[in-house]
Order: sequence, then structure tokens, then C-alpha cells
Amino acid sequence: MSLFKKCTCCAFPWLSRAEFLQDEKTVLIGYQANFCQLELGYFLFNHLACESTIAIPAGRFKDMYAGPLFTQRLTGTEVCQGFCEDMDAIEPCDAQCECAYVREIMQIIRNWPKEACQLANIAHG
Ligand SMILES: [Zn+2]
Repeated sequence: MSLFKKCTCCAFPWLSRAEFLQDEKTVLIGYQANFCQLELGYFLFNHLACESTIAIPAGRFKDMYAGPLFTQRLTGTEVCQGFCEDMDAIEPCDAQCECAYVREIMQIIRNWPKEACQLANIAHG
């Protein structure tokens, strides 16, 4: 059986990424950047069922983004608003920076339609 993620606290399993994203008990709360390798930065989620924080590598969401990618790193320059250095920041970034796409993915995650648990169970038959 494949498993997307198991809650590190209460061991609740999400079988797929879609299931994780649509779960109304998962909320994106932050991003812990890894400036050496962006895919290894962590998206931080709150699992409302047990109030613990779940960290999932950003790379596991990368294919959700189909927009422009920039090659230049602008972190720390005058156009950088410093969001990536603030773990609690979940805002999008409008700089044409290599890191910006990660923050676009965060917006996709935030806007993902949530399903109530019961509805999800019915959908799974
Ligand atoms: Zn949990």
C-alpha cells in the first residue's frame, strides 16, 4: 500500500497527496527554506486533529507548479522581501527569483479545495 505521509504525532495516514491536500484538518503554516537545495526545504503543516506540525519536503509538491522558473537567486537583494527567511511567512513573492516558484506552490496548497472527512470516505467508497 502506498502512503504519501503519516502524521508524525498521531500516525494518521494519508494515502495520496490529493488526500492530504483536501483534508480539512491539514493547514499550511510555514516554509523552512533550504537555500542550498530548494527541493529539500520543508513545507510545514498543522495537523488540526492532533495539533502537531508536519514537515514535508517542498520537492514532493514541485510538479504542481507549471509557471515560469527563474534562475537567479535574489535572496537578500533589495527586491527580496525576506519571506523565505521567515519560517512563518506563507505569502507569495513577486520577485523574479529562483525561490519564488516555491512560494507559488504554497498558494496552490493554500487554495486547494478542502473536503470534510466524511465526504472523503464516501468518495473512497
Ligand atoms: Zn496528527
